[in-house]
Amino acid sequence: MAVTLEDYAGVIGHAVVDEIRALAQRVRGRRFKNINSTAVGGGVAELLTRIVPLLADLGIDATWDVIKGNQAFFEVTKAFHNALQGKPETITDAMLETYLETTETNLRSMNLDADVILIHDPQPAGLIQARGNDHRRWVWRCHVDISNPQRKVWDFLQPFVERYDGAIFSMPDFARQLSIPQYMVPPSIDPLSDKNRELDEEEIRCTLERFGIDPRRPILTQISRFDRFKDPLGVIAAYRMVRKRFDCQLVLAGGGATDDPEGEEVLQQVREEAAGDPDIHVLELPPFSDLAINALVRGSTIVFQKSIREGFGLTVSEALWKRKPVIGGAVGGIKLQVINGVTGYLVHSPEGAAYRALELLGNPELRRVMGENGYQHVKQNFLVTRHVEDAVLLLLALDHPDEDIVRLW
Ligand code: UDP
Repeated sequence: MAVTLEDYAGVIGHAVVDEIRALAQRVRGRRFKNINSTAVGGGVAELLTRIVPLLADLGIDATWDVIKGNQAFFEVTKAFHNALQGKPETITDAMLETYLETTETNLRSMNLDADVILIHDPQPAGLIQARGNDHRRWVWRCHVDISNPQRKVWDFLQPFVERYDGAIFSMPDFARQLSIPQYMVPPSIDPLSDKNRELDEEEIRCTLERFGIDPRRPILTQISRFDRFKDPLGVIAAYRMVRKRFDCQLVLAGGGATDDPEGEEVLQQVREEAAGDPDIHVLELPPFSDLAINALVRGSTIVFQKSIREGFGLTVSEALWKRKPVIGGAVGGIKLQVINGVTGYLVHSPEGAAYRALELLGNPELRRVMGENGYQHVKQNFLVTRHVEDAVLLLLALDHPDEDIVRLW
C-alpha cells in the first residue's frame, strides 16, 4: 500500500502532519526531479527511496532517475569522492575526460523536463550543462564534506556547481564559499521503514542466530559499506582491546554500492584481519537486507560508526532511533547526531573507542539513559517527515528567489 504522511501521525502528531500538508499546497503539482548515481546501496539511495513517495503523497510530482556509467566512470567518481573529502588521489586529465564523456552520454539519453531538478552529489553534477534559458530551477545537493577538497578536482567541479540556482549541504561545516545561495538540510531516517520499525524480540533473536551470533552475550556492531573511510579495521582493533577485559562479540555488516568499486578489496582485508576469531562476524549483506539490519542493530548492545571521514552517517540515526548508544568517529554528520556524553561518545582513535565501549558495557543504566536521549534527539531532528518539510520549503524558496520573507498565509 502506498505510504501517506498520515501514517506518521503516530510518531510526530497530527498537528505537524497538517502543517506539512498546508505548506505543500503552495507547491502542489510541481515537477520535482531527483537525479543520483545509484538506485541501491548507500545513504542517498536510502533517502530517496523514502522521500520521493511521501512528496508524491503531498501532491508534488516527484520523480527519481539514476545516471548510467561504466566501471571506468565510477572509478573516476569514487576518486573524486575521496579527493573532495581531502584524501590524496591522483586525478589525471584522462579521468576528467571520462567524467565529461559519461556526462555527455547521459545528457543525450535523460529526460530533464521538470520544474526543479535536484542533482545529488558530484557524479551527475555535470548535467547542469543542459541548463538553458528556461523556467527550470537547478539545485545541487552535496551529501559529503567538501570543506577541504583537493584543488584539482574542486577546480574542475566548481564551475559546474556555480551554474546551479543553489546548493544544499547537510551541515554548515561541509560547505564552501560559493557564488550561489546555500541551504542547510540534514538527512533523515524513516521510522516506519523495515530498517527502523519496531520488531519483536523473537524476530531479533532468530536473526542473530541465523548469522551465528550469540544473543546472550554482548554484541558490538558496525553497519557500513566496506569502505576505508568507515574504518572497519579500526573497529576490529578497538574490539580486540575491549575483548581482553570483557567477553563480547563484534558484528561488521555491510554490502557494496554499485557506484563503489573499492568495496571488494576492503572486505577482503577485513576478512583477513578477522580470520581465526569466531566472535568476529563479518557479514556481507545483499541489497535490501533492511529487516536483517534492523534486527542486528536492535540485538546489539552498542553500535559503532567509527568513520574517519563521513558524510552524514545515516547508520548513526538508525541506531539512536533504536535506543542504542553510539560510539562514533568525531567527523562529519556524526557530530550532529552523537552528542558526546549524551547520546553516545565521539572518539578519535581505536583506543578511545575501546575505552568508551568498556565504560558502556560495564554500565547498563548509562546505556539505557543514552539510548533514550538518542531516540529523542532523532525524533526531534532527523526523521523523514522533517526532511519532506524541508523539501517543500526548498520548492517554496525557489519560487521566491529574491525575498527574505515569504508570506504563506
Ligand atoms: N546499509 C545497507 N546495507 C549495508 C550497509 C549499509 O542497507 O550493507 C545502509 C545503512 O543502513 C544506511 C545506508 O546504507 O541506511 C548508509 O548510509 P550512511 O549515510 O551511513 O553511509 P554511506 O554509505 O552513504 O556513506
